[in-house]
Amino acid sequence: MALLLPTSTAGSLPKPSWLAEPEKLWSPWKLEGDELIEAKQDALRLTLQEQIHAGIDIVSDGEQTRQHFVTTFIEHLDGVDFENRETVKIRDRYEASVPSVVGAVSRQKPVFVEDAKFLRQQTDQPIKWALPGPMTMVDTLYDGHYKSREKLAWEFATILNQEARELEAAGVDIIQFDEPAFNVFFDEVNDWGIATLERAIEGLKCETAVHICYGYGIKANNDWKKTLGSEWRQYEEAFPKIQQSKIDIVSLECQNSRVPMELIELIRGKKVMVGAIDVATNTIETPEEVAATLRKALQFVDADKLYPSTNCGMTPLSRQVARGKLKALSAGAKIVRDELNS
Ligand SMILES: [Zn+2]
Repeated sequence: MALLLPTSTAGSLPKPSWLAEPEKLWSPWKLEGDELIEAKQDALRLTLQEQIHAGIDIVSDGEQTRQHFVTTFIEHLDGVDFENRETVKIRDRYEASVPSVVGAVSRQKPVFVEDAKFLRQQTDQPIKWALPGPMTMVDTLYDGHYKSREKLAWEFATILNQEARELEAAGVDIIQFDEPAFNVFFDEVNDWGIATLERAIEGLKCETAVHICYGYGIKANNDWKKTLGSEWRQYEEAFPKIQQSKIDIVSLECQNSRVPMELIELIRGKKVMVGAIDVATNTIETPEEVAATLRKALQFVDADKLYPSTNCGMTPLSRQVARGKLKALSAGAKIVRDELNS
């Protein structure tokens, strides 16, 4: 990409109130049938327009067609029973009622490929598509069939690879895998987490990214962050192996977080989507605050590999706040881009 510091978001963006109840995770749809399909497409057009208007360079669907970044993908797979729910602890942090794996998992048909084709038709800008990563999928389910997190992760990696190849064929430029679980289960990350992720990207020619964050700005995550002490060094566990992996881009959280910026040095050589927007507050960053975060990151990542982004998805925020944050992101990136070009 010729443009220095191309901006993007980590993933989800708020949905319009006519599509789903705003500022809520797992918010139920307000419409059904054909009306819902049309409404999702309209919301996708709208979120794309808002990104373009705010000056975002690498655009996305804002996850307008999904209720949740993990479960919506899983809903389309065979072998998972959504009626038969069990309560598990997600990321060792909060209890949730989740679907059960009751048989061999498989993908009978594409999940997001039609949505991606639709987005591709709407814009010539580079597009990024997010999928859940294998470990985070495993961690969002009760497994009564394989009874092995690793085995199930390899199965999901195969399925994700099928979907990713079709997304690539639909014209997606960057496929991103969301792996917040990489910040929690360090032994598993190094044993099989990164290996299953590499299985998911096998044979792809488009760029690939992994997004590792401290989660949405919901109470369970905010409470967890309070227990992490003054320095958050979680990235230190996974980064050395990610640096050696075939993943092209690492998306991470920096703004207002206690992650020591020098940890980015551990993935030197990778492109880095630096989170310069905090998604856990309604306070809109100033462009100068964004620029300050990017300048700090530039000590540890080459300018041609720095991609300004958000810490995480913004679906729990109001549309107005999200719009303001997108504008601040592109204005802050422009300040630093101009400095680099002068
Ligand atoms: Zn995230």
